[in-house]
Amino acid sequence: MNAIDYLRISLIDRCNFQCQYCMPEGADLTYALQQDWLTRAELRSLLTGVFVPAGFTRFRLTGGEPLLRPDVVEIVADIAHLPQTQDLSMTTNAFLLAKKAEALWQAGLRRLNISLDSLDPETFQAIVGGRGRSRWHDVWEGIQVAHQIGFAPLKLNVVVIPGVNDGEILDLAALSRDREWHVRFIEFMPIGNGDLFEHSGWIASEELRQRIRDRWGLTTGNVRGNGPADVFQIPGALGTVGFISQMSECFCDRCNRMRLSADGWLRPCLLNETGQINLRERLRQGTPLEEMRDRVITLVDAKPEINFKMRDSGTTGAYSRTMSQIGG
Ligand code: SAM
Ligand code: SF4
Repeated sequence: MNAIDYLRISLIDRCNFQCQYCMPEGADLTYALQQDWLTRAELRSLLTGVFVPAGFTRFRLTGGEPLLRPDVVEIVADIAHLPQTQDLSMTTNAFLLAKKAEALWQAGLRRLNISLDSLDPETFQAIVGGRGRSRWHDVWEGIQVAHQIGFAPLKLNVVVIPGVNDGEILDLAALSRDREWHVRFIEFMPIGNGDLFEHSGWIASEELRQRIRDRWGLTTGNVRGNGPADVFQIPGALGTVGFISQMSECFCDRCNRMRLSADGWLRPCLLNETGQINLRERLRQGTPLEEMRDRVITLVDAKPEINFKMRDSGTTGAYSRTMSQIGG
């Protein structure tokens, strides 16, 4: 059993994209009230008074779209400067990255995961929504700027949707050949996107691996990451290709993460809410931090029993919420 030391912090549940697989048209998008977002000062208190003492040392900022949070750079600096922080990263759609990358770097961020579902501007726009010039150009520029500044490893996340972007698997995998980029294919999950999932279905990682293997071969080498991805390499490539296979292979047993939502709910699992704690309410009611820390430690201890495998017994609507609302 892995130590549970990794916290995904959602900074905001809103987004400037509307990806078909994450928040499709017609999805019930009820956002947290802004007054309920954990403030920067509240986040700092929770980190220093609750999470660090409870053993968390690795943090990922996510959303919604974290770069929409006005004080994102200051929050990055707060976490990067905690002496106990061993790892800090961010998952972003990169639309605003070209403008913000330098400030994020100066604040201490070094690692980025960027969603890039297509290399074709039109397909990209069809996935993420929006009118006029494709947003792909801004995202691509954001990726280039981040690369030039030195963010590493730069991970590119691809959600594979049959009939939408599965024809680009080889082109996307090829991005790992000339640069030290890590391209990760994520199995499409049925979260808040019922119709699309029912129509398109999903493709198992093994099938994608086979397509890449048939083209170039694939080695496992010694490139195992510390997250949920199974990592491989195209022979001679500088980067890697990874596969996140939560649909075809359950990785609950190696899950080491908890999730803090933008409005302060601590959840033990993406889709199982058993034991969730409203830390914002407790903080604003003046509950002592030590008491909250003890509650969190109890939830951490219970986590091996609370997982995605057991989701049917512990879900109170997580499947109908979107990934952006849960804090993907
Ligand atoms: N907006 C940021 C982004 O897109 O990178 C961060 C939040 S997003 C919810 C986090 C991750 O969840 C992204 O990599 C996205 O591709 C993934 N995701 C969203 N909906 C998904 C789904 N239905 N199945 C699999 N992955 C999904
Ligand atoms: Fe926004 Fe990320 Fe969800 Fe796309 S995947 S809608 S960018 S939160």
